[in-house]
Amino acid sequence: RKFTDYALSDEIVRALESLGFTSPTEVQNEVIPVALKKQDLVVKSQTGSGKTAAFGIPICEMVDWAENKPQALILSPTRELAVQVKEDITNIGRYKRIKATAVYGKQPFAPQAAELKQKSHVVVGTPGRVLDHIEKGTLALDRLSYLVIDEADEMLNMGFIDQVEAIIHELPKKRVTMLFSATLPEDIKQLSNKHMKNPTDIEI
Ligand code: AMP
Repeated sequence: RKFTDYALSDEIVRALESLGFTSPTEVQNEVIPVALKKQDLVVKSQTGSGKTAAFGIPICEMVDWAENKPQALILSPTRELAVQVKEDITNIGRYKRIKATAVYGKQPFAPQAAELKQKSHVVVGTPGRVLDHIEKGTLALDRLSYLVIDEADEMLNMGFIDQVEAIIHELPKKRVTMLFSATLPEDIKQLSNKHMKNPTDIEI
């Protein structure tokens, strides 16, 4: 398998080449074609499997550079993961000049709000701070068409699931939702049953 086997634009394939990604990992091979068809996904896979690029590649492919408002929202359990995912998205989207913004707690609110006000195609954040931005009106959601719930079981363990739920209630109904988790406890299955449309189940 090669990245050129998928319906990806030249800008994305070139970025993957410059990252040294020559062939897709297993999770990427399963996820990319389904996500490009705009179908919901529940993916059971571990960190280290290449899951970030599995959702990052189709999201970067679909981003319209000319649209200034966020088109994808990625929820992360920790600040460290949010920053890492933001960097990965920036690298994958470098030849499309995709702008990603990370928002997380224990940091001043105003600089993040200012960054969100600029062109911001992809927002990566921890649930509490994302909700803060939604409530204060600093995160526009009307052009959002992709939601990723990353490390869903970690978010459950950290007590973020009600905040994730509250965020989902604010999002456009017409969207693609992708959930990634190392384990699938009952609460995560319920979350996906409630908020996803006939998701394709992938287990790596
Ligand atoms: P992740 O599971 O998303 O944390 O990714 C684990 C590591 O694999 C990261 O350092 C990525 O840069 C790397 N990686 C992701 N996809 C590929 C690929 N197709 N080829 C080579 N390395 C990759």
